[in-house]
Amino acid sequence: RKKIAILTSGGDSQGMSACVRAVVRTAIHYGCDAFAVYEGYEGLVRGGSEYIRKMAWEDVRGWLSEGGTKIGTARCAAFREREGRLTAAMNLVTEGIDALVVCGGDGSLTGADRFRQEWPSLMEELLKTRRITSEQLKGHEHLTIVGTVGSIDNDMALTDSTIGAYSSLDRIIEMVDYIDSTAMSHSRAFVVEVMGRHCGWLALLAGIATEADYAFLPERAKSPLVWEKELLEICEHHRKQGKRKTVVIVAEGAIDNELKPITPEIVKDLLVEKLGLDTRITTLGHVQRGGTAVAFDRILATMQGVDAVRCILESTPATPSYIIGVKENNVCRFPLMESVQITQSVAEAIKNHDFDLAMSLRDSEFSD
Ligand code: ATP
Repeated sequence: RKKIAILTSGGDSQGMSACVRAVVRTAIHYGCDAFAVYEGYEGLVRGGSEYIRKMAWEDVRGWLSEGGTKIGTARCAAFREREGRLTAAMNLVTEGIDALVVCGGDGSLTGADRFRQEWPSLMEELLKTRRITSEQLKGHEHLTIVGTVGSIDNDMALTDSTIGAYSSLDRIIEMVDYIDSTAMSHSRAFVVEVMGRHCGWLALLAGIATEADYAFLPERAKSPLVWEKELLEICEHHRKQGKRKTVVIVAEGAIDNELKPITPEIVKDLLVEKLGLDTRITTLGHVQRGGTAVAFDRILATMQGVDAVRCILESTPATPSYIIGVKENNVCRFPLMESVQITQSVAEAIKNHDFDLAMSLRDSEFSD
C-alpha cells in the first residue's frame, strides 16, 4: 500500500489547503495511505506523530475554500543542511513514506528535488549507522517528489498560473475599489503598494482591473526622466478629462533603470510637488495573502492535487521530478528543475536589468 505525504512550505497562499485536501482524498481514492506533514520541512525534520499525521477523508472536510494552509508552513534552516535532510529521510522511512507532494515556491521545490536526488545516499548512510533496518528500507529505495506551486506572485516559469495568485489579485482589486470611493469623495490621489519582488504580475493585472492611472513593475524599469514625465503627463491628462481620483500601483520590487527602488514615498512626493494632488499611500501588506481562495484557485489546486497523486502513481525511479502546472487551461506536468531554474534565471535577469532576457525566459517552453 503506497504511502503519500503532502507538505506546504515557504510563503502561504490561498488554495494551499485545497491542494492538501485534493492530494489526501485522491490518495485515499486510489487505495493509498495519505499523510500530512505539518509545519513544512520543519515538521519533516522533527518527525513523530505530532508532525507527520495520517489523514482520513473527513480530516480535510471544509478545506476547499480555506485561506492559507491548514497544515502550517515554515522556513526551515535545518533542511538546507544534509544532516537535517538525513533526519527527515529517517522520519519518512520510519513511517514507510516514499512519495512526497510539496506545495510551495521555487525554494521549497529546489529543496524537494535535492532531497530526492540525495535519497539513495541518505538511505545508505542511515543503514550504515543503523538508524534504519534493511527491512524498513525494502521498497523505499527511491523517493518520488511532485511539486505544485503555491505562490501569490505568479512567478513560476512554464506554468500559466500558481495557486493563490488570482485570490491575491482579487483581494487587491477589492481593496482598491474601497480606496476608489474615498479617493473620489476627496478628489485625492492614492499610491498603492502591492506584493511582487521580482514579478509584476499582480501590479500589472491589478492596474488593468482597477483602471489605475499608472503601474510600476520590476520588469519595466525606466530612467527617472522617462517614468516621471510619463506618470505626470498621464495623471494630469486624466485629471483634465474630469477624473476625480488618481490611483498609482507600485509593485514592492519596482526599480528604475539604475536599479534604485521606486518607493510609494517617491511617487507620492512627485504627485504632491508637481501636480499639487492631495496624495496618500496605502500599503496593502498581508491582506493580499489572506481570506478565502477564489473559485479559480479552488479549481486549480484541486485539479493539480489530483494530478500530483496520479503522477506519483505513474512514476518510476527513472522519471524526473515534475511540477504540476497549467498551460492554456490544461493541467500539465513540467520538469521541476527546469521550471525552477528558469524562474531563478528570470529573477536574476531582472536584478541585472536584462528585461528582454527575462521576458524571453518567461515565455520559454520546456525542452521536450
Ligand atoms: P516563497 O516564494 O514564498 O519565498 P519558497 O518556497 O521559495 O517560497 P524559501 O524560503 O526559499 O521559500 O524556501 C522554503 C524552505 O525550503 C526553506 O526554509 C528550506 O527549508 C527549503 N529550501 C529552500 N531552498 C533549499 C535548498 N537549496 N536546499 C534545501 N532546502 C531548501
